Amino acid sequence: MTEAEKIDNTEEKKSVNFIEEIVRADLAAGKNGGRLNTRFPPEPNGYLHIGHAKAICIDFGIAERYGGTCNLRFDDTNPVKEDVEYVDAIKEDIHWLGFDWGDRLYYASDYFPKLFDLAVRMIKEGKAYVDEQTSEEIAAQKGTPTRPGTESPYRNRPVEENLDLFMRMNAGEFDEGTLTLRAKIDMASPNMHFRDPIMYRIIKHPHHRTGTKWNVYPMYDFAHGQSDYFEGVTHSICTLEFEVHRPLYEYFVKELADESYCPRQIEFNRLNLTYTVMSKRKLLQLVKEGLVSGWDDPRMPTICGLRRRGYTPASIRNFIDRIGYTKFEALINVSLLEHSVREDLNKIAPRVAAVLNPVKLVITNYPEGKVENLVTENNPEDPEAGTHEIPFTRELYIEREDFMENPPKKFFRMTPGQEVRLKSAYIVKCTGCKKNDAGEVEEIYCEYDPDTRSGMPGSMRKVKGTLHWVPAALSKDAEVRLYDRLFSVENPAEEKERDFRELLNPDSLKVVTAKIEPYLVETAAAGNHYQFQRIGYFCVDPDTTSSHIVFNRTVSLKDSWEKAKTK
Ligand code: ATP
Ligand code: MG
Repeated sequence: MTEAEKIDNTEEKKSVNFIEEIVRADLAAGKNGGRLNTRFPPEPNGYLHIGHAKAICIDFGIAERYGGTCNLRFDDTNPVKEDVEYVDAIKEDIHWLGFDWGDRLYYASDYFPKLFDLAVRMIKEGKAYVDEQTSEEIAAQKGTPTRPGTESPYRNRPVEENLDLFMRMNAGEFDEGTLTLRAKIDMASPNMHFRDPIMYRIIKHPHHRTGTKWNVYPMYDFAHGQSDYFEGVTHSICTLEFEVHRPLYEYFVKELADESYCPRQIEFNRLNLTYTVMSKRKLLQLVKEGLVSGWDDPRMPTICGLRRRGYTPASIRNFIDRIGYTKFEALINVSLLEHSVREDLNKIAPRVAAVLNPVKLVITNYPEGKVENLVTENNPEDPEAGTHEIPFTRELYIEREDFMENPPKKFFRMTPGQEVRLKSAYIVKCTGCKKNDAGEVEEIYCEYDPDTRSGMPGSMRKVKGTLHWVPAALSKDAEVRLYDRLFSVENPAEEKERDFRELLNPDSLKVVTAKIEPYLVETAAAGNHYQFQRIGYFCVDPDTTSSHIVFNRTVSLKDSWEKAKTK
């Protein structure tokens, strides 16, 4: 069997995206000695977000799928914005998503010496020169796609002078913003990136790994392709905005590569999601200005924010699978992500009772002081999940919204004269309520039918509504953080006229004190997922202490994606 046939036999063709098609074809053709090596190249200047997850899933995923390897390479070429805090967080998030780089951890800064040597060689070969113009002057000479640029007056400096200046730039003799090293390519090229791009600039800020060793730092375009080459990367998968950089990527790589091996850049559409922003600069601004509680604020689209919110790695990966990889920019409805989260939590989250807006319910014919430990299923979706007990007492809490004194038609919950089922307990009939002077309901009264205990034949009686409840004296208070979308407009990035901070949703966080059942008090540990029956999925926040339990709402039960689909 040939390599190509082997691949065709192991994978179903129809689920293959265009990137996989390229990889399969290259493997089948025996390119690069039949090797597959990808890389994920984050710049450690912020935390990873769900957009990066899309890149991670293809970079690591495709290597896993086709027997290749994937490097983690920190693209740390700008010391001003970078920090080890970000390096550590990025590693943690990739592991949490379920991927591993093994011993393939690299830094672009590892290649500073080799890149410097290459720059020196290019100077010697007349392919690079030191420019003394400011960045404004250089920009003004760039021209437009239809009008050629103007050559720098320093373009034809002798090699010796270029070499001397470049060495002195690195020795720290010149200030930031004065000299640059530029590639001497073509100021009239239709590709703007070929108009003598900057290879090196002076930066005097210490680097988090190399300290003050360097005073010149390579630009992205002069570092990325070569780093790929140094590591033996075969497929350099990135987002569409780099498509216009590809010829330059190839130009610099050709300075190093030969016939036997050459990395190849492939671009896909980035992930954009409704009701959020994905720019690291903006996310950093939200954090710095205290508009969110931190990078891991559960409203943030960051991986650590989603984790704290209660999203699972499986739900994120399923979502990424669903949206796929194409060549077309799109804005993805966040309700599809929420749908994937619900789908996963539905399988794994124990069902528990929590009352978010409690009002007391008194069962007037139930003995005072009596406690019955009733059995309730942990997860109807998972027969292995077992059961737990919930104590039933004369006084309970139910949701205030579940009672109406004068309800409209088809109100199947608690109202005088009507029967409802209390989940895993009894059928009760409402007899009335007590109100305070302001007209607010203070207590609701009902009578239970002892023959309708859950599991007994009498419980088979048909009633339309089932309510969740917790025992009044035996329940505990918990803080519940109800999160909503961070922005109130669908596409904040599109609203160019307004500062994105004005578009924040003022109601993105509401905090309530809920009553929770004893089982939940006993089991709640940071990171645990639960379904609060009839309400939504919640997870235990790390702010939780032994005396104060905090929950985050992950997602409500109502699935707006299913609704949108059937419209
Ligand atoms: P910056 O604006 O700082 O360049 P960035 O989001 O591009 O931010 P990087 O750390 O350079 O951040 O990104 C690492 C990798 O993740 C790149 O290959 C990039 O293409 C990819 N990536 C970034 N944002 C997205 C996104 N929204 N969807 C898919 N991939 C993304
Ligand atoms: Mg980038």
